Amino acid sequence: MDLENAGATSLLLEGEDVPPVLEDNAEGSSPFLLTCDHYGRTIPRILGDLGLPANEFTRHIAWDPGIAGVADALSKHLDAHLIAQRYSRLVIDCNRPPGAASSIPLISEATTIRGNEGLTREEAKARRQAIFDPYHRRIHEVIDRRLRESIPTVLVSLHSFTPVYAGIPRPWHIGTLYHRDTRLPPLLLKLLRAESDLVVGDNEPYAVSDETDHTIPVHGEARGLMNSGIEIRQDLIADQAGEKLWADRLARIFAEIETMLRAERLF
Ligand SMILES: [Zn+2]
Repeated sequence: MDLENAGATSLLLEGEDVPPVLEDNAEGSSPFLLTCDHYGRTIPRILGDLGLPANEFTRHIAWDPGIAGVADALSKHLDAHLIAQRYSRLVIDCNRPPGAASSIPLISEATTIRGNEGLTREEAKARRQAIFDPYHRRIHEVIDRRLRESIPTVLVSLHSFTPVYAGIPRPWHIGTLYHRDTRLPPLLLKLLRAESDLVVGDNEPYAVSDETDHTIPVHGEARGLMNSGIEIRQDLIADQAGEKLWADRLARIFAEIETMLRAERLF
C-alpha cells in the first residue's frame, strides 16, 4: 500500500477496526475463485451507527444475510480461494462503481441513511480508499498471480437476495447473474434447472450491467475470465442448516461444472 492510501485509510479505519478483506483457502486448488462483496455488516467505529436503529443492520440493506456461511462452507468444500469484504454495503457498496448514487447510498429500499448525508468529497474518498480499494486491489492481485502462473480461474461472485422487495414476493430460489460470458452461465443454468425442486432465475432477480455492478465487469469480463454471479434467496439460508444445504448443493454442481469445462478443454 502506498503512503497516500495508508494515510487515507487511517482516516476511517483505526486500530480496533478489522481489515476489510477476509480470505480463506488462498492456496486452494480449485479453478473457482469466490468473491463475496456483501459478506459483512461491520461499521467503522468512527461512523457509529450511521444514524440507523440496530434492527436495520439485520436487514438486507446492510449486507447479504446468509451468504457468509454459504461462502465459507463452499470455499472449504471446493478447496477454493474466497475473497470477501467485511464492511456493510451501507458504508460503501463494493459492487457499485465508485461515484454511482448507490455506491454510498442516501436511501436503501425505503430507509434513509442519515450517516451518509452531506458527505464531503474527502469523506467519500476515505471510504473508498479504506474499504473498496483494498478489496478490489486484492482480487486484482490474486487474478494477476493466477494468470501469471497459468492457474485456471473462473470467477464466481456470491450474493443473496431478499424474498420480498418493495412488497413484491420473489419466486426464485436461486438466480444466475451475468452479462457477457457465454460459457459458464449456460452450464450453471442447465445444472441448476436439473434440480427438480428449484425455481431458477436467469438473470433474475438482477442482471449484471456496467452501470450497476463492479465485480463481474471489472474482474471477470475485463480480465477475460469465465464468470457468473449467484444470488440465493435469503429465507433459504437463514440458519446454519440452510447455509450448509446450499453450500453442499453448490459444491456438487460446481464439481460437475469443473468436470465439464475440463472435458471441453476450456482450461
Ligand atoms: Zn449482494
